[in-house]
Amino acid sequence: MYRGCRMALSRGLRCCQRVFSWVPVVIITLVVLWSYYAYVWELCLVTLTNPLERVVYIIVFHVVFLLFAWTYWKAIFTPPKQPSKKYLLPYAEKERYENEESPEAQKQILTEFARKLPVYTKTGSGAVRFCDRCQVVKPDRCHHCSVCSMCVLKMDHHCPWVNNCIGYSNYKFFLLFLAYSILYCLYITSTVFKYFLLYWTGALSNGRAKFHVLFLMFVSLMFFISLMCLFSYHCWLVTVNRTTLEAFAVPVFQNGPDKNGFYLGVRRNIEQVFGKRRRLWFLPVFTSLGDGFSFPMRVVNESQNPLLSREDQWDDDASDEEAPVLHETSDITIEMDK
Ligand SMILES: [Zn+2]
Ligand SMILES: [Zn+2]
Repeated sequence: MYRGCRMALSRGLRCCQRVFSWVPVVIITLVVLWSYYAYVWELCLVTLTNPLERVVYIIVFHVVFLLFAWTYWKAIFTPPKQPSKKYLLPYAEKERYENEESPEAQKQILTEFARKLPVYTKTGSGAVRFCDRCQVVKPDRCHHCSVCSMCVLKMDHHCPWVNNCIGYSNYKFFLLFLAYSILYCLYITSTVFKYFLLYWTGALSNGRAKFHVLFLMFVSLMFFISLMCLFSYHCWLVTVNRTTLEAFAVPVFQNGPDKNGFYLGVRRNIEQVFGKRRRLWFLPVFTSLGDGFSFPMRVVNESQNPLLSREDQWDDDASDEEAPVLHETSDITIEMDK
């Protein structure tokens, strides 16, 4: 009876949590719908008097608006990719793992299982990265999201503004969403500015339109500044081929932690996310390279190569040079139990 109540309560809480997680998306959608009304109706149709200016403003606005809405939709509704069955601990191993009391023996069971998998990163203590909740060996760059209760391939972060986990399957969409949000705000700010001044100085006077136009200017400027900060940070992450999580917790390879472990040169780093066909870079269609399970890596150990030991050489030069890489198809095996 007591257990039943507890389960019903936790189900109810989870349900509330799911409903509340949509609140930021609803807020953003309402702000965007209001901005649409304020721009098209109050600015273009009520305030503007020149018919040509009116038509041009409305057409360009709709192109930018559609690109923004498309990328926002894709960022919200593209589900994150999870590890495949291959990474799931088989029943027999799971039984052995759970019955084993010594952590060392448990580590050994995971090491043996992971030997068959293309996994090259490990925990700080040198163990196989294993998710207890999903019972999977985590592929490189995969992390467990406690909000989504699942392991997410190349997880970047959980974004409340799109109510989705940003990872391998939707990182490009998230970046384009930021880019088109900035363009949307920039377009509104630059076209509204002239009428903002006219209303502000009292040269124009239409009570309702004045309120919407002034507010439109403040809101789009505020979003523009905050989005620019976030977008600049993500542009930097793309050029150095790091996820937000990796920027805070350096991945550990066979030779130890290496923040540039996935660095391939700026151009190839960008291609990892946006793909090789440049004309598709700006459209929210999936073009990221690879499968999300394993990633090309720099194979040279910096500590053994004096030419590569200067960290600033990789950071500051940010050159387009091709870095030596290890592909997932390589037959190099890495011992996990060292
Ligand atoms: Zn997990
Ligand atoms: Zn998540």
